[in-house]
Amino acid sequence: MGKKLVILGSTGSIGQSALEVVARNPERIEILGLTAHTRADMLRDQVGQFRPKYAAVTDPAAREHFAGLIDSPDVELLPPTEGIEMLAAHSDADIVLNAIVGAAGLKASLAAVRAGNRLALANKESMVIGGDLINAAAAISGAEIIPVDSEHSAIWQALVSGRKREIKKILLTGSGGPFRETPRSEFDSITKQQALSHPIWKMGAKITIDSATMMNKALEIIEAVNLFRVPADKIEVVVHPQSIIHSMVEFVDSSIIAQLSYPDMRLPIAYALFYPERHPAENGHFNLTEIGKLTFQKPDFEKFVLIPMAYRIARIGGTAAAVFNAANEVAVEAFLNDAVKFSRIPDIVIAAVEKHAPVLNPSLEEILEADRWARENAKTMIG
Ligand code: NAD
Ligand code: MG
Repeated sequence: MGKKLVILGSTGSIGQSALEVVARNPERIEILGLTAHTRADMLRDQVGQFRPKYAAVTDPAAREHFAGLIDSPDVELLPPTEGIEMLAAHSDADIVLNAIVGAAGLKASLAAVRAGNRLALANKESMVIGGDLINAAAAISGAEIIPVDSEHSAIWQALVSGRKREIKKILLTGSGGPFRETPRSEFDSITKQQALSHPIWKMGAKITIDSATMMNKALEIIEAVNLFRVPADKIEVVVHPQSIIHSMVEFVDSSIIAQLSYPDMRLPIAYALFYPERHPAENGHFNLTEIGKLTFQKPDFEKFVLIPMAYRIARIGGTAAAVFNAANEVAVEAFLNDAVKFSRIPDIVIAAVEKHAPVLNPSLEEILEADRWARENAKTMIG
């Protein structure tokens, strides 16, 4: 019998890649549950192929549509929001892949970890806004949290080479996004289409815009602080346009361990699902001489102001990260709906953070309240 896997957000970019990994390993993994927000037709196809016991759909209209589509008596359609938490915490689940986008994934991460289920974590936002709660719950239940984010997977793999107290620095790499070479003076006229064309990765819309503003790297700094429990000043962002090195760890003896591969999310997904085993890959033709050259540069903090902001947020702690994240979610959605210019996204985020009085050591309710407040604030600013 294979391991039982729940995929939350199976219709997204990460969810679909994860199902490709599962499809190639039917004897090692079976699907216990799948969830989607709006793509009912795709979920129906996935349910037909992978035959999970449970499914959940969060958007009401999509849920109704999905209910009309399924003819299988074998799949149980769970209630929307509680269904996701119930699946995350299910006692039959061995692994929960949280591939939901945004703060909407927080309760599911918490539910999985509280139940002691392994959390394969793509939903970085939950670790950014609720890292302390998730870590505290994992300390009690013994749940493993294995990052799926490619950089954090690379860091995790590099950390096997040394002890935590031997870490000198974490070198968090990033492609620099589509506007690495675009002067800031041109940011006002950046179109949605330009921002949605990432040079390396094909991902969901929200994270693609986050990569363009480099908010993604900002979130990843805080994600690394919370996952690896290192102070933010030990994390250095390095722009590496080829995206072959997915991050590095420098140890006290000045030895640097890097993880390299072609950019393909199926690799960190498989790593998190099969850990501590390594999974034989079909496309193992990595060729350094074909790549030829790896280059590195410093990030431009004046152009990508959300990166220095992330260091501030990490120092402030408490609910600051929830506000930082939620204001960004609203600003990105507004940009995708043509309601604000690209260049306004960081302004909206920073304005919300500046106005917020952070609560330290917040409860889940206080985090959700800060999230709600930041959304209101950002919406008012957008008008
Ligand atoms: P996506 O937009 O392609 O998919 C998101 C999934 O979440 C969908 O299945 C959708 O149905 C579901 N969803 C959306 N809103 C929801 C809600 N309110 N409640 C419940 N479910 C909801 O996103 P993605 O690119 O797959 O990213 C998912 C997560 O993984 C994000 O946190 C992202 O930062 C992270 N991540 C993605 C990549 C990548 O390559 N795509 C890489 C690293 C990290
Ligand atoms: Mg990443």
